[in-house]
Amino acid sequence: MSKKKLIVQKFGGSSVANVEKIQNVASRVANYRKEGHDLVVVVSALGDTTDELIELANKINTEASEREMDMLLSTGEQISVALLAMAIHKLGFEAISFTGAQVGIITDSSHTRARIVKINGERIKEELKKGRIVIVAGFQGINLNHDITTLGRGGSDLTAVALAKELKADECEIYTDVDGIYTTDPRIEPKARKILEITYDEMLEMASLGAQVMQARSIEVAKKFDVPIHVRSSLSKNTGTMIIREVKRMEDLLVTGITINKNEAKITVCEVPDRPGVAAKIFKELADAGVNVDMIVQNVSHLRSTDISFTVTKASFNKAMKQTEKIAKEISAGEVMQDEDVARVSVVGVGMKSHPGVAASMFDILAKEKINIEMISTSDISISCIIKKKFAEIAVRALHEKFGLGK
Ligand code: ADP
Ligand code: ASP
Ligand code: MG
Repeated sequence: MSKKKLIVQKFGGSSVANVEKIQNVASRVANYRKEGHDLVVVVSALGDTTDELIELANKINTEASEREMDMLLSTGEQISVALLAMAIHKLGFEAISFTGAQVGIITDSSHTRARIVKINGERIKEELKKGRIVIVAGFQGINLNHDITTLGRGGSDLTAVALAKELKADECEIYTDVDGIYTTDPRIEPKARKILEITYDEMLEMASLGAQVMQARSIEVAKKFDVPIHVRSSLSKNTGTMIIREVKRMEDLLVTGITINKNEAKITVCEVPDRPGVAAKIFKELADAGVNVDMIVQNVSHLRSTDISFTVTKASFNKAMKQTEKIAKEISAGEVMQDEDVARVSVVGVGMKSHPGVAASMFDILAKEKINIEMISTSDISISCIIKKKFAEIAVRALHEKFGLGK
């Protein structure tokens, strides 16, 4: 028998989408138990349950309170943990399911995007000592008022990483429907290649820029506490991708991955008076309204006014439009235009730090595909372009090929 380990395993919605898949997860978990390991299993809601619950809420009230949204969305994960425990019992193993609150995942009160403040791991440790497999509902916690909170979309990844840190687990495995992190979303580019090892920094950048496979905040926490993550498939035994602090490559890759994000919309305020304090007013008021602004572009103004464009997430789009129209009136700006038909395409790679010219190559590749760039932003290790949504996938495939990432 191999050395006894404590393993945190997280199974995403796609891995528990139906009865058969739940049974598959149960036998997978049971096999690890047979080898003598201690297991803490984090599960997401079945399939698209969370999306369906959001749709349901929207039918009742499009401006539902965030507290009630959390109350609703957290039920998805509660269903999965109970069903998985039952499936494991059926195989003759001891297992016990818990909500986030029951295992002491304490968060702040920012409903729908709460931050974990601390975890009281005692109950989990007690149950592990009794020889039970502990199953924890992902994506949720409780604040100091005992209100249920959720950790932002994809938040079960964060639950798993935070528990791995708290329990000093030997391994943290994220099981999903792909067998690792790829050079780009394999659903968009079948020629995408699996990356065997990727750094926290690159994964964080890819996740923040739209690679849905890992939640960005979970990578932040993993990086902070040095929790290595193994991303792998719930349907195969293949080794997946290790997300770690440092990857030993002779030379850093110029481009590690390409991401796509269709979850943003563009707002343009026309004829903004060109005087100090105006941008400050627009973006402060948006921030106060809880709108997260992403890319910002201001045109050079020859005259006395300028156009300011920025992007926001689709989720905060209505709120952002309302707020921006109000501010535009107050500062005597012109029309406020909206464009929901955009996508962000980004290239990510640590090698960019020391090699100029990646931006120029990216723009050239897009130009050759006759794709117009509407906005540009850069970081140390990424370059992003906002383009029309209908060209996004063509752009991803072209960039993937021209930067030499394909098979
Ligand atoms: P889960 O239900 O397990 O949480 P997600 O749907 O959140 O799974 O994430 C897995 C999906 O992420 C994959 O099916 C894939 O289409 C998508 N994805 C996007 N970018 C990448 C990438 N670079 N590598 C792997 N998968 C990616
Ligand atoms: N069920 C939640 C979501 O869909 C959390 C997760 O899947 O990680 O966002
Ligand atoms: Mg996910």
